[in-house]
Amino acid sequence: MTKKRYEKPIILKQHSGMMNKFGSTQTFRPITKIDDVEIDSLTEKFGSPLFVFSEKQIREKYRKLNKIFKTRYPKVRFAWSYKTNYLSAICSIYHQEGSWAEVVSEFEYDKARDLGVKGENIIFNGPFKSESALEKAIREKALIHIDHFDELYSIMEITEKIDLTANVAIRVNMDTGIYPPWNRFGFNYENGEAMLALKRIIHDERLELKGLHTHIGTYIMSAEPYRQATLKLVDLAKEIYDNYNVRLEYIDLGGGFPSNNTLKGQYLEAEQLLPTYEDYADAITSALFELNLPSDELPVLTLETGRALIDDSGYLITSVFATKRLSTGKQALIMDAGVNYLFTSYWFNHKVVPTKEISGFTENTIVYGPLCMNIDVIRDDVVLPVMHKGDKLVVLYVGAYSVTQWMQFISLRPNVVLITEEGDVELIRAAETNENITEQERLPEKLSDFTLTD
Ligand SMILES: *Cc1c(COP(=O)(O)O)cnc(C)c1O
Repeated sequence: MTKKRYEKPIILKQHSGMMNKFGSTQTFRPITKIDDVEIDSLTEKFGSPLFVFSEKQIREKYRKLNKIFKTRYPKVRFAWSYKTNYLSAICSIYHQEGSWAEVVSEFEYDKARDLGVKGENIIFNGPFKSESALEKAIREKALIHIDHFDELYSIMEITEKIDLTANVAIRVNMDTGIYPPWNRFGFNYENGEAMLALKRIIHDERLELKGLHTHIGTYIMSAEPYRQATLKLVDLAKEIYDNYNVRLEYIDLGGGFPSNNTLKGQYLEAEQLLPTYEDYADAITSALFELNLPSDELPVLTLETGRALIDDSGYLITSVFATKRLSTGKQALIMDAGVNYLFTSYWFNHKVVPTKEISGFTENTIVYGPLCMNIDVIRDDVVLPVMHKGDKLVVLYVGAYSVTQWMQFISLRPNVVLITEEGDVELIRAAETNENITEQERLPEKLSDFTLTD
């Protein structure tokens, strides 16, 4: 008979079946499956930690959002925000659904081209586009969203040098009532800079003004700023039509819709707090109708939604490596995944749930990652059942920004799998190996050997 391990007795406040502030009981519906695939079978085959994406959920969400906008406005186009998640498999799902590519660097631009997206279906955003990237984008007819005057001048020079025209739009920043304002990107509306940039473009015969763009921020928790932003772009569009007879092909409202994630410091859970996507769509499309144009002359509404499309379809499975009692008696878990894979946990209280029914009491728990660093905390206070080594947790809503912002720090990054619509599990990014990391290193000859003494 194996001897049971001794644990020092402690006194804890019990939460079992207790009402919370909103009258509902604290429940832990464990997540045992993702789509129809058992979590245990996933980790058996692909190890832990493991990122899991659901193709079905990705496509459903995309179709849902697309429909919400298309039922309100005749011409809608989505462009997938690469920086939100640029795994090839993920981008390709969006491209199969008809989404263009929205990129913010030459690396992302090249990645979209490698995946088969034509230049003319790429929106090139961001404040940092090298001359070589600009020239490539001009030659390939990409839509270049100009961020500042220096970029405008570079494009003018390049188009003259290579004697080609460029398809451009400008990024506009404006007061939308959000604080702090996002005014570091693009040209300002209120101070007239945006109009000035537009005039320069209109007067340059090698520049084709195609649209107007703004991206007012991320995780915007109200629809009103979108209405304000759209009205200001509409105002610019009217002005250039009235004064220069230039019609825009599109108006691009960027990304920024929230996901189900709950921000730190947010008292209610996201689902209880946020407007619906219908509210955002109403705000944007009703403002676009202020253009007073017949339906066939309306500009395309472009959306670069990232987070809201992918966040809820991504999961991180992580295992309890060890448990501890802090000196306060609080349950502490050391997991095999930490902030190195979940950079987003600095901003969000990620929802974590067990992967099997665990009976008994629940208690306030701190969830640590494996790093030898104080900041490596996934949740500093979450109610969980008593957990043991080997038990697993699923971290929910981690599809956005985690597999692009994750760090190779202290440990290597784990496998990423996709559960396909057919229920197959495909590896879409293999776990890193030491060779992956060291192949980029160069060891100077004189450092290549040493002798250690006792
Ligand atoms: C990051 C980014 C997006 C996507 O933003 P979300 O908040 O993830 O929807 C869209 N457009 C631009 C220009 C961006 O920088």
